[in-house]
Amino acid sequence: MKRTYIPYVADWPALACSESWELVSAEVENATKKFPKWPTDPLHALAILGEEFGELTKEVVQMIYEPNKTSTAKIREEAIQTAAMAIRFVMSLDSYCYLQAP
Ligand SMILES: [Mg+2]
Repeated sequence: MKRTYIPYVADWPALACSESWELVSAEVENATKKFPKWPTDPLHALAILGEEFGELTKEVVQMIYEPNKTSTAKIREEAIQTAAMAIRFVMSLDSYCYLQAP
């Protein structure tokens, strides 16, 4: 099936802000239960966030070029995980040790 690219900006998000926050908040809670520790080294913390962003990127690229191999549900899942890790990064801002490797 030939799909046509139609660039546009939605007038209003499909998901309400409060609903998005609830999904991300639940993911932060689940991730914190599963992995209670979070790095105090900001580069390691950023690597966790980057890993989730990479997974989100892969799903979006796949949706464009190999749509039979992913789904919008998977993209949603990865977007929520990425946002949750960004929140965990923010939650730890006062705990980071900005030290150079010896
Ligand atoms: Mg993920």
